[in-house]
Amino acid sequence: MYKVLLFYKFVDIKYPEREQKTQIRLCQSLNLKGRTIIAREGINATVAGREEDIERYKKEMWDNPLFSDIEFKESASENLPFKKLSVKVRDEIITLKYKKLKLSKKAKYIEPEELYEIIDKSGEDYYIIDMRNNYETDIGKFKASIPINTDNFRDLPKKIKDIKNLKNKKLITVCTGGIRCEKASALLIQNGFKNVYQLHGGIIKYGQKYPDKGFEGKCYVFDGRISIDINSKDRKKIISKCHHCGNLEDTYINCANVECNKQIICCSKCIEEHKHCCSDECVKIKVKA
Ligand SMILES: [Zn+2]
Ligand SMILES: [Zn+2]
Repeated sequence: MYKVLLFYKFVDIKYPEREQKTQIRLCQSLNLKGRTIIAREGINATVAGREEDIERYKKEMWDNPLFSDIEFKESASENLPFKKLSVKVRDEIITLKYKKLKLSKKAKYIEPEELYEIIDKSGEDYYIIDMRNNYETDIGKFKASIPINTDNFRDLPKKIKDIKNLKNKKLITVCTGGIRCEKASALLIQNGFKNVYQLHGGIIKYGQKYPDKGFEGKCYVFDGRISIDINSKDRKKIISKCHHCGNLEDTYINCANVECNKQIICCSKCIEEHKHCCSDECVKIKVKA
């Protein structure tokens, strides 16, 4: 069994390139793989490795004054869900490209315990706004939540007009591990939304505390696992459909036509019938290649 760590922190990093080198050295020494983004605004990462190596990584991070209060979200994986280690320096740790964003205006946190208490009232007393992309909310989301339906997080500024009728309502924003809500909630508040909260620790933290309560389907993750279970096996419910036949299915595949590579939900029967492709055109191209 391997462990996967998901974490972020908004903190001033004066020399991102220096921190990049430190991270590469640390991860290599512990045989960790994953994806880390460092910017002047902080760090955002998913790293995976053997349990004892992950524990040492956490300790090393907590020993660093910059990261001493970092909150790690952990999950298990049968295989190492990354092939390599990537540590990059970017302009933002989660790309929104909204120049005037004031992160100091971000929403207050709502804890999983508080959401659990009121989860049955979503869509009445308050609204859960899911800030993840459509391919993520397709396979799993909170009951009665409103997906913001972006293809990419960068599209969010264009999408908030779709919920402008909720400007005076109580909103709770949610995402996988919380980082997108930090920016999304600030964006909403800056655009006149009056009563916004963000779920602390995201769906991952909530699901670990309260499986089988409020979340339906699977939680999409950005590593080799593609998705993880939030609910226990006997309470599983599939909410998405096969791209080809429409039967209930929650397995993602990438179209075998490498130029297309489109991610589709596909059942095992259709994987064979459509030769691992999204369309007849792609089957033809794949056969030629
Ligand atoms: Zn099918
Ligand atoms: Zn295709």
